[in-house]
Amino acid sequence: MTSGSGWVVLKFGGTSVASPRALRRAVAVVARTQREARTAVVVSALAGVTSALEAAATAAAHGKAVGAAVAGRLRRRHRKLLHALAPARARETARVLEPILLAVHARLDAAALGIRLTASEHAHVLATGELLAVHVVAAVLAERGLAASAVDARALLVARGGPLEAEPDPAASRERTQRWLALAPALPVVTGFLAGDDDKGLVLLGRGGSDVSATLLGSALEANRVELWTDTPGVLTADPRLEPAARVHSGLSAMEAARLARLGARVLHPRTLELAHGIPVLV
Ligand code: ADP
Ligand code: ASP
Ligand code: MG
Repeated sequence: MTSGSGWVVLKFGGTSVASPRALRRAVAVVARTQREARTAVVVSALAGVTSALEAAATAAAHGKAVGAAVAGRLRRRHRKLLHALAPARARETARVLEPILLAVHARLDAAALGIRLTASEHAHVLATGELLAVHVVAAVLAERGLAASAVDARALLVARGGPLEAEPDPAASRERTQRWLALAPALPVVTGFLAGDDDKGLVLLGRGGSDVSATLLGSALEANRVELWTDTPGVLTADPRLEPAARVHSGLSAMEAARLARLGARVLHPRTLELAHGIPVLV
C-alpha cells in the first residue's frame, strides 16, 4: 500500500507475548517493521490473564479473598518475562507494575468483603492484564535498542456506553489520537482492550477487543495497514482446536473474514474489520 500516513499498526495477541520465545519473535517483527515504517504496537494481556481476572472477580464476589494470590501470580509471571528478556530494565519496570498490582489486589479484596464492585471497577480489574503487559513489552523492546514507551489507550481511543463493552467512536478516536501525536513516543506500545470515555475514564471493548483497538487505532492514524499477530498462521478454514486439519484460508475477502468472525471464529473480534475503515488488515 502506498496511500496512508506511513503508520503501520502491529497487534500482538495474548499468546504472542506470553512466553520468552513468542515475545522474542514479536520483537523481531517490530524491529523489522520499524525500519520501514512508523510503527505503533498494540498488545493484549498475556494469554489466560483476562480469563483469570474474570474468574477472580467472580470468586471475590462470592467472598473469597483472592486478591493477594492473584496479584502474586501476576507479579511472578510478568517479572519472569522481564528477567528473561529485559534484565537491565527488570527492576525498574517491576517497580512500575506495583501500583497496578496493588490496585487489583485492593479491588478484589474489597469485593471479597462484600463491597460490590461497580461496573467501572470491574472493568479496571479486567484491564489489569493489558495495563501490565504494555510495560513488559515496552521494556523488552527498549532493551533491544528501540525507543519504545508504554501508552495507555485512554489517551488515544474513545468509546462510550457500558464500561465492559463500550461502543467505539471512530471520529472522536481520530481527533484524540491526532492531538496525542504531538507528544507521541517514537515507538508507542498501546494497551489493547481498553479505551477512554469522554472524560478518559476506563471502558472496555468487550472480550477479544484488542483486535478492535488495533483497527480503531489504525483508522485514527490513517495507517497504511494493520497486522494482527496471533498463534495461528492466519485465518484458518476452521477452529484448529476443534479441527486439527484446518488450513490457512487463502484469498479470504474482508467480507468473508467478517462473516467468519460474526459466526464466532475467535481469531477476529466481530467488529474488527468494520472499524478498519478500508485500511488493509493482515492476520
Ligand atoms: P489472540 O490473543 O492472538 O487474539 P485468540 O485466542 O483471541 O488469540 O484467537 C486466536 C485463536 O482463535 C486461535 O488460537 C484459534 O484457536 C481460534 N480460532 C477460531 N477460529 C479460527 C479460525 N477460523 N482461524 C484461526 N484461528 C481460529
Ligand atoms: N485480553 C482481552 C481478552 O482476553 C482482550 C484480547 O485478548 O483481545 O479478552
Ligand atoms: Mg483475540
